[in-house]
Amino acid sequence: MVTFFCPGCWEEITGEDKKCHYCGADITEHEKRGFEEKLINALNHPERETVQRAVWILGRLKSVKAIEPLKGLFEQTDNPFIKIEILNTLDEVATQEAVDFIAKSMNSEVSMVRRIAREIIERI
Ligand SMILES: [Zn+2]
Repeated sequence: MVTFFCPGCWEEITGEDKKCHYCGADITEHEKRGFEEKLINALNHPERETVQRAVWILGRLKSVKAIEPLKGLFEQTDNPFIKIEILNTLDEVATQEAVDFIAKSMNSEVSMVRRIAREIIERI
């Protein structure tokens, strides 16, 4: 069964659901098709929690399309938790480009970010 996330509240739903069990949002096929783009758009959301959740879901989807926007967000944000979430997501996507970016982040100015980047690289 394919896993989706509600575009209204980002809770996990199944591909068969027509309506979100959590918030009641109507989930049409059209909604599902645009899902990845919506998540990428959510990276610009003003609420940190929404951004963090979008980053995490993009990792579960192994979204190659999200790599560039995630790298942009990483440079833009000064929130270390978002940075770490992005590194974990890039680890899930695991293309060469994603791994290169994690390796580069071992030189981050933020010690917590450096440590996580090192842990991921040592694990690969
Ligand atoms: Zn929902």
